[in-house]
Amino acid sequence: MSATQVTAPDLTEAERARVLAKSALFDPPPAQLPDGRRDLVGLSREELTAELAAIGEAPFRCKQLWHWIYHQGVTDFARMSTIAKPLQAKLAERFIVGRPTTVTAQISDDDTRKFLFRFRDGQEAETVYIPDPEEDRGAVCLSSQVGCTLSCRFCHTGTQTLVRNLGAAEIVGQFMAARDAYGEWPSPKGETPRLLSTIVLMGMGEPLYNYANVAKAMTIVMDNEGIGLSRRRVTLSTSGVVPMMDRAGAELGVNLAVSLHAVRDALRDELVPLNRKYPIADLMAACRRYPSASNARRITFEYVMLRGVNDSEVDARELVRLIAGMPAKVNLIPFNPWPGSAFQTSTRVAIERFARIVNDAGFAAPVRSPRGRDILAACGQLRTESRRKGTSPARSAGEVG
Ligand code: SF4
Repeated sequence: MSATQVTAPDLTEAERARVLAKSALFDPPPAQLPDGRRDLVGLSREELTAELAAIGEAPFRCKQLWHWIYHQGVTDFARMSTIAKPLQAKLAERFIVGRPTTVTAQISDDDTRKFLFRFRDGQEAETVYIPDPEEDRGAVCLSSQVGCTLSCRFCHTGTQTLVRNLGAAEIVGQFMAARDAYGEWPSPKGETPRLLSTIVLMGMGEPLYNYANVAKAMTIVMDNEGIGLSRRRVTLSTSGVVPMMDRAGAELGVNLAVSLHAVRDALRDELVPLNRKYPIADLMAACRRYPSASNARRITFEYVMLRGVNDSEVDARELVRLIAGMPAKVNLIPFNPWPGSAFQTSTRVAIERFARIVNDAGFAAPVRSPRGRDILAACGQLRTESRRKGTSPARSAGEVG
C-alpha cells in the first residue's frame, strides 16, 4: 500500500470521551453579557438565523446582518442603513457586535505590530500582524488558546499553562480588531489587494486542540459574503495532533503547516512532547493523507534552528528523506530567544548548509527573517500573564518543559 493510501486512524470511543471531557474544562465563557445581550460575532449563519427567528425576524435578515458585521465591519446597529430604525433599536436591545479590547498595540522596528487583546472574562491573548516588507499585504497570526498545553521546549507560550480555549467569536474577533486598527473595512472583494491578506493560526495555542472553535471561526472568515478570505489564504499550524489533521483536511481544506523541529523521535519527544503520543512516522503519514498533499498545494514544515541541537547535515538529510515525494516547503526559523530560554540560534553557516541540502533535494527552504523580535512578537515568543483561576502564579519563563 502506498503512503497516500493509508487510512486515518479513528479515535477510539475512550479517546474521544477523554478529549471531549478534557476540552470542556477549558471552554470559553458564554457569549452573553451580564445584561443578557448576546454577541452576534462568532455565530454560524444557521445560529444567526435562529437568533433572529427567536425575535420574530425573517431569515433574509441574517444575510443583511452578515454583510454589515463581516463585510462592512460595522459594530453599531444604528449605522446599518439598510435596516429600518425600529429594527435597529430592537437588535441593539438584544445583541451586540463585539470586539476584544485592545490592551496594547506595540509596533516593532520592522512595522510588525503585536496586539494584546483582552476578552470579556479578563483573559488575554496576543495577535501579531506581520506586514510584507515589499508589498501592501501581510499575515495576521491568530491565537487559538490562552496559554498552551504542549510545552514545546523552545516556545515561550509553552511556559504558560493552558488557561482556556478561545471561542469562535474571540478568534474571528482578533482578526476583526486588527482590521479595525488598520481601517481595512469594508472587506476587499475577491482578489483585490488587502493589507491583512492572510491568516496563520500560529499564535498562542494548538489549534487542533480547540478544533470546533477554530473551524467555526475559519468558516466565518472564508465566507464569501463577509471577510471572504479564500482557503488558500488561511494556514493552520499544528504540532501534530494526528487524528484531528484528517478532520481539518476534510472539513476546512486550508493550508497546513506542521511544526516539525526535529527529525528523530528521541529528539522530537523532547522538543515537542506531543511526539510521544503521535510520533514522526504517524505525523508524516497524516501529512501525506492531507488533501493539499494530493493536489500539489504544498505543506509547510516549520523547523526552528537550534544551535547544535537539530541543525546538522545528518538532520537535513533525514528531513529530506521524511518529506520525499510530498509537495512540501520547509521554513527554517532561526530560534528567537525569549527571557529564560535554554537554546541558542544556529550559526549562519549551519543554517545555510542545512538550507542547501534541503534545496538541492528540490524543496524550497527559505530562512525566515525574524520579525518583531524587539517586541517579542516573533515565532515562539508570545506569552501573556493570564492564568487559570485558582492556580498558583504562572510558571516563570525559566521553568520550561
Ligand atoms: S509551539 Fe505552539 S504548540 Fe508548542 S508550546 Fe508553543 S504555542 Fe504550544
